[in-house]
Amino acid sequence: MNLLVTGGCGFIGSNAIHHLIGQPEITLLVNLDGLTYAANPANLGVIPAHPKYRFEQTDLRDRAATAAVVARHGITHVLHLAAESHVDRSIAAPEIFLQTNVLGTFHLLEACRAAWAGHFSTRRFLHVSTDEVYGDLAPGAAAFTERSAYAPSSPYSASKAAADHLVRACHRTYEFPALITNCGNNFGPGQHAEKLIPLIIDRVRRRQSVPLYGDGRQVRDWIFVRDHAEALWQVLTRGRVGETYHLGARCERTNCEIAERLCDLVDELAPELGGHSRALISHVTDRPGHDRRYAMNPTKVESELGWKAQTNFEDALRETVRWFLQSVGNS
Ligand code: NAD
Repeated sequence: MNLLVTGGCGFIGSNAIHHLIGQPEITLLVNLDGLTYAANPANLGVIPAHPKYRFEQTDLRDRAATAAVVARHGITHVLHLAAESHVDRSIAAPEIFLQTNVLGTFHLLEACRAAWAGHFSTRRFLHVSTDEVYGDLAPGAAAFTERSAYAPSSPYSASKAAADHLVRACHRTYEFPALITNCGNNFGPGQHAEKLIPLIIDRVRRRQSVPLYGDGRQVRDWIFVRDHAEALWQVLTRGRVGETYHLGARCERTNCEIAERLCDLVDELAPELGGHSRALISHVTDRPGHDRRYAMNPTKVESELGWKAQTNFEDALRETVRWFLQSVGNS
């Protein structure tokens, strides 16, 4: 397997590369990343010295350069993670989300479709998507299944939905060997500072107010990034081509619950900061179009592929807080 991971300097991509590099099936692991503001190559640690690893600084918006990477390395499998990923940025400046998430995905599909002609049965393309493509879920309603209707609310989720549609159409039209996963909110080491959990830890550490949108009762379905990485490997290698799999850990929490738990963990792990961090939580004007709830039903992946999230949420959150406190201490 010559595996191409796109976005491997991002949060999930770097964790996935750590998780996958030791797999004996992998001969070559090529990381294609354009190194946007969201990239943090340091998260890869010693990976660049690994004999199986190659890095290509390439922008998916550049169709010819993308095709050249696929051809040059004889890529057989793709884990497509590279994207503009922050909802707030998509509201302020949506165009790059269409360029990278939609057109970039199209360029990668076209590159693989050309390079893999006549060999589709031994090739695989996994597009990594989000639960946000389904839009708002009413409180008490059953979690999203793979048959739920798409109803994206933000430019980010609309761009991911468009990419999903392109991937699915590529399979239906050309029998291209594609699969899709949709996943809830990831957390863990190496996440960009603009995302909810790192942002809260950072604010608490600095004794600054912790802003929560609206009433803070929005519900998100959380998964530890290493559980996600293992699920991606299972779907890539054992999933049925043309299928969509929902990945989740059945871990719904309100943003308020997350913020309070993080405050308590910082109080416990860094008592020198003075404690009582919950007092820092404040409520700010809600984000426009803010979905109230997402929740994923992972029954299909659990029953078909035998994958199940392994990590205890509380343990993983503690490890994440410790990681961010230490990484700040070391910087
Ligand atoms: P991230 O923002 O941390 O990393 C994205 C990476 O993609 C960065 O390294 C960036 O440099 C690269 N990139 C961006 N534009 C590029 C371009 N034009 N060409 C090449 N590289 C480019 O994102 P993440 O949180 O690791 O998310 C990875 C994927 O998983 C995304 O597709 C996202 O939609 C999806 N996803 C994320 C979550 C989550 O909670 N983080 C949940 C579900 C799905």
